[in-house]
Amino acid sequence: MKSQKRSVRTVLSGYLAAFLLAAIAILWLVQTVFLQSFYEKTKYSQAKQVGVMAAQNFHEVFIAADFSNRGFAVSMRNAAKENEATVAVCDEFGFIYATFGDFQFDNIISLLRPHQLYQIYALAANSGGEYTEALTTRFERESPDTILAAKIIPGSDRDFMLLVSTDIVAMTSVKKTLRAQLLVVSCLLLAIAFAMAALLSTKITSPLAQMAQMSSKLAMGEYSVSFSPGEYKESEDLAASLNYAAMKMSEVETLRRDLVANVSHDLRTPLTMIRGYAELMRDLPGEDTTENLQSIIDETSRLSSLVDSLLGYSRLQAGAQDIDVSPFDLVALARLAVSRFAPYLEGSRFEMEFKASQESIIALGDEAKIGQVVYNFIDNAIKHSNGPNRAVVDIYTEEGRAKVSVSDFGIGIPESAIGEIWERYYAVRDGHIQKDAGTGLGLSIAKSILEAHKSNYGVLSKLGEGSVFFFDLELDG
Ligand code: ADP
Repeated sequence: MKSQKRSVRTVLSGYLAAFLLAAIAILWLVQTVFLQSFYEKTKYSQAKQVGVMAAQNFHEVFIAADFSNRGFAVSMRNAAKENEATVAVCDEFGFIYATFGDFQFDNIISLLRPHQLYQIYALAANSGGEYTEALTTRFERESPDTILAAKIIPGSDRDFMLLVSTDIVAMTSVKKTLRAQLLVVSCLLLAIAFAMAALLSTKITSPLAQMAQMSSKLAMGEYSVSFSPGEYKESEDLAASLNYAAMKMSEVETLRRDLVANVSHDLRTPLTMIRGYAELMRDLPGEDTTENLQSIIDETSRLSSLVDSLLGYSRLQAGAQDIDVSPFDLVALARLAVSRFAPYLEGSRFEMEFKASQESIIALGDEAKIGQVVYNFIDNAIKHSNGPNRAVVDIYTEEGRAKVSVSDFGIGIPESAIGEIWERYYAVRDGHIQKDAGTGLGLSIAKSILEAHKSNYGVLSKLGEGSVFFFDLELDG
């Protein structure tokens, strides 16, 4: 089924386009809709600023009424030029003392009569010394075309009025140009945005797509795949996690294969023996002996113990170790376990020693499961004995608890592996194939049984010298 989700490219293009449209809308408003009022506001403040500047910088010029002062004249002329304005200094009676700037024939200041100048003076005087007005002087214009700004500046025997006039141009054609420009710019920016979205999304998604492809290979069982990190931190993290997952999956796969190989090997050996003995007894009349029958029985019990550990393993996987606690004789249990190995050791030079501090030690626990643990410890001691050797099974009490230790003088366990041998499938590999390679399940099952008993258990081992596996149990009463 095709996914209904949108691609990164579509989303990114959408966001970029939305961002651009918002930016363009703002530009549109500023440049066209509000252009005229921005322009007029700027003109107003520029015209007012000339008066403020004159009052601040040329205070003495007004006190001395010396308007031909060079500094003042240059400054006023420049201000007029910069602001496309005309500047005049007059008094209350409309008498003009000086003018600066380009006075055209229709300049408002030159058209004003003395009494009109007086009126402006009065308006400024009444509103704190400053007055501005937008006037429509040309009859063909519908909106104001001139700004008049007046500022009263004190002199010695009389006060003066600095009058600034500046034209307001209609922005119609400017607006048209801007609009056309904006249209072209918008189209260009949109094209760039889409190109960028395409580029960015490819950059972001290509490592993802590659990883998706690799993941499906992984799912098909190709554990050697390697996820490349891409350019970004996020894709790098993802690749690292996936590589880790691939590594773990491949480990599990190897363990699974080993397990199947080991289990089939373990199943085949007793089966071959049973068949051998049975055939022997069928074909040769004198071979119908109790010993041969016993061998068949022993091999079947090996098979059942293997099946037991597989069952234990599946329970372990389910996470459940239900224990059935009751008092039992630990010495008798351990003795029985040791005796089960006697037939195998017969004729071999392996010595099995059994020690018990008391005739019987009654402990609390699940007898069958503890038997499994003791059996596993002894089995391991024999398996890892490295030729003719010996093992000691010791049952005693210490600090109010029943204790079991199984010591061997075999190959020992490397220090680095001590913590791991209790894990599932773990088997210390020394580079060459182990003849008696087990399933790597025995100790993990023992661990879960002992933990369910809240037992203190562990191993002390030295490579080349041997190991001591031990655990304890609560005493009854
Ligand atoms: P296995 O079926 O392989 O024996 P276990 O879980 O019983 O599985 O043991 C795990 C691994 O721990 C063994 O493969 C072996 O490498 C190591 N080990 C266990 N007991 C001993 C021992 N007595 N001496 C040396 N190594 C041991």
